[in-house]
Amino acid sequence: MNPTDQQPTSPECGAENPAAPQVDLPRLEHAVREILAAVGEDPQREGLLETPARVARMYAELLGGLQIDPSRHLKKFFTEKYDEMVLVRDITFNSMCEHHLLPFYGKAHIGYIPNGKVVGLSKLARLVEDVSKRPQVQERMTEQIANFLDEELQVKGVAVVIEASHSCMSIRGVRKPGSACVTSAMKGLFRTNLSSRSEVMTLIYGNRD
Ligand SMILES: [Zn+2]
Repeated sequence: MNPTDQQPTSPECGAENPAAPQVDLPRLEHAVREILAAVGEDPQREGLLETPARVARMYAELLGGLQIDPSRHLKKFFTEKYDEMVLVRDITFNSMCEHHLLPFYGKAHIGYIPNGKVVGLSKLARLVEDVSKRPQVQERMTEQIANFLDEELQVKGVAVVIEASHSCMSIRGVRKPGSACVTSAMKGLFRTNLSSRSEVMTLIYGNRD
């Protein structure tokens, strides 16, 4: 067996991103060459020779998360009696809008009320990271993050708010740079209990300079 065929045996062995992007790089390179030819460029021009391979690697980095299960970050939890809200705000991310394959980027805020299971705070950021590395729409991304927390930790409530700028709105189409798109997903107590809901929104948006 070719040693390079070996897969990492344990995803827990300290590697930051154990799952190598499972994308077809030669196919991507071919597609990029086609785009260049389609717009009238000469893919053989010196300045463009390395471009298909470079762009292919970039797509692997930006979209290579489709085969990854983001819930992997929520499998290890602590059992805690703590039942107040946990909030991590301003988790920066970038993703790719699936309608234009252009980036959208911004911040995710995640609040949840545990039901005996608490995860390390960095795991929430890693969850956002995994969910963003695939062709996305902001609404679905918001919902997916909430659902993963709901399903894996059986939380009493989860609130996810995402604010993002979409380059498909700023550099093309209506060309409205600076506009922010805000989406939210509320489940459990954050959906049913008005005071929990306003508390999390105040914590997300309150005392900002
Ligand atoms: Zn778009």
